[in-house]
Amino acid sequence: MRDNDCIFCKIANGEIPAATVYEDADFRVILDLSPASKGHALILPKEHYENLFELDDEIAAKVLLVAKKITFKMKEILKCDGYNLVQNNGEVAGQTVNHFHLHLIPRYEGDHVGIQWNPGTLSEEVKEEILSKLQ
Ligand code: 5GP
Ligand code: ZN
Repeated sequence: MRDNDCIFCKIANGEIPAATVYEDADFRVILDLSPASKGHALILPKEHYENLFELDDEIAAKVLLVAKKITFKMKEILKCDGYNLVQNNGEVAGQTVNHFHLHLIPRYEGDHVGIQWNPGTLSEEVKEEILSKLQ
């Protein structure tokens, strides 16, 4: 299914041009218009899935294979030193476009890309709460 009001549906299906670094039957990979670093790319499924929770299982399985292929190639081209894969779900998590996408963010020694958090401490109480609810 595609969503007529979704910009990433239009980009993924070629109705709006974008700098495409890879395309196959299921995905288009494009350069981000506001990159966190040189070579920041987005993997877009051609079908519309709002987020990870809605993503088709087969597409979910394929997306990491695409990520592996593209980051391998881009690492050669860009001569970057590392990579972050980032995937936001929900406004509170920083999702601004409600069409599933996986960020591929090249990292360079000394860059100032800020993908970090303040590490907390896992308490016994929280650990027990989560593990018991999972049973
Ligand atoms: P989010 O915050 O939803 O995880 O990421 C959305 C990303 O899409 C942002 O990094 C933003 O720069 C990028 N973006 C938004 N609109 C466009 C667009 O029209 N073209 C491209 N290439 N990137 C876009
Ligand atoms: Zn869409």
